[in-house]
Amino acid sequence: MKKYFLIVLLLVGVLVPLTTRAQTPQNILTPQARATLIVQLQAKLADLQQQLFILMRERQTPSVTITNPNLGGQRVIIFLVNYKDKDRRPYTKEDIYNLVLNRDNPLSTANFITENSYSKTYLEDNKDNIYDWHTLPITESEYCGVRASEYLIPYVDHLVEFKDRDKIVFLAPVNSYCHNLGGATNGYTPVLTDEGKFNLAFIGLTTEDLLTLSHYIRHEIGHTFGLPHANSWECGAVAIVRNQEDCEKIEYGDMFDTMGRPWFSNDIENYNVRFKEELGWLDSASILLLDESGIYTIYPIESTPHQIRGIKIPLTGELNYYLEYRSPKGDSARYKQGLFILLNKKQQLVGDSNVFLVDNTPHATSNGDNFLNSADEIDDVLDSALKEGQTFYDPYNNLTIKTLEVNDNYLKVEIKKG
Ligand SMILES: [Zn+2]
Repeated sequence: MKKYFLIVLLLVGVLVPLTTRAQTPQNILTPQARATLIVQLQAKLADLQQQLFILMRERQTPSVTITNPNLGGQRVIIFLVNYKDKDRRPYTKEDIYNLVLNRDNPLSTANFITENSYSKTYLEDNKDNIYDWHTLPITESEYCGVRASEYLIPYVDHLVEFKDRDKIVFLAPVNSYCHNLGGATNGYTPVLTDEGKFNLAFIGLTTEDLLTLSHYIRHEIGHTFGLPHANSWECGAVAIVRNQEDCEKIEYGDMFDTMGRPWFSNDIENYNVRFKEELGWLDSASILLLDESGIYTIYPIESTPHQIRGIKIPLTGELNYYLEYRSPKGDSARYKQGLFILLNKKQQLVGDSNVFLVDNTPHATSNGDNFLNSADEIDDVLDSALKEGQTFYDPYNNLTIKTLEVNDNYLKVEIKKG
């Protein structure tokens, strides 16, 4: 589409001077000027022909470019399934449409993905992609072993023609045999269907409460984009230590990120800047790569204009810091009046949880269970932001970060290196 737009622009570029000149009295152009104009026009036309030729060739030969699966439209196919020994239908197809795919519902998963990706990807809004209650030929106890996997495909294959990179969701009633309410594949997995082998992503959820369902779907769909969990970094009474191995990773510990556990409030939280960079939703124009000390402005991660939404600070060794600012709105507003500092291991993300929220008001509350279980531990993570006037100092990398100003629209930070 962009290329056709370019061609039109070029045509306008040729035609506008032509028409302008046609209205100009002939005697203004000397024969020499006219000859020059003709040469220029011929060059422009040749250029146009060349572009058209390239376009035609691209259309005829299949593209070998590997495209980013996390951009553009995503077809999400949802099956409402129940078990042969327990026929329950706790919600309707209409409920699920409104909750997940309906873009007119501001709280839908579809709107969440559009906002998160700055419209770089979207879930197709199509009610026909939701298949109404279908009783599987397996029992409740048999279901859990195959939940969220390609093993359910044979039961629904006759209903739909799958295509590469569909996201398949199985929603089933509460299941007393399942240990977790939900699960998803990390990105795509090759699966044999009636129409051939395709890369498909799977989500399985067994819950009847629509609010829980909406929380889980936003999280699980993140996994289908290849995202791991957003964790926190627990170093006891300090924010960081020299040897990172001495700290503890708390799985799901970032309580401000949908890939963590932001369920303490009703707010719908974006994926972090590092995740968005990995998915191709934020590019180098939106994430500043820090190369010198200075004062910088970061705009909220939720904002749509093309501004800086994050700062990446490469450290020696295998680590980066990512700085981000989350709009201080909603139930969790008071916890977000500051800068979030994320510690990131440099290797590829896929499947590996390597993004950790640093706690700027640390207390020695971790009980060593690698999970947020006590109120103390939750409180400890909630005060992670670096508030106005506060300073974070990393003596091992000789780095100082100070939050200078926080307001609803932006955050100003001073960064001193070396
Ligand atoms: Zn998860």
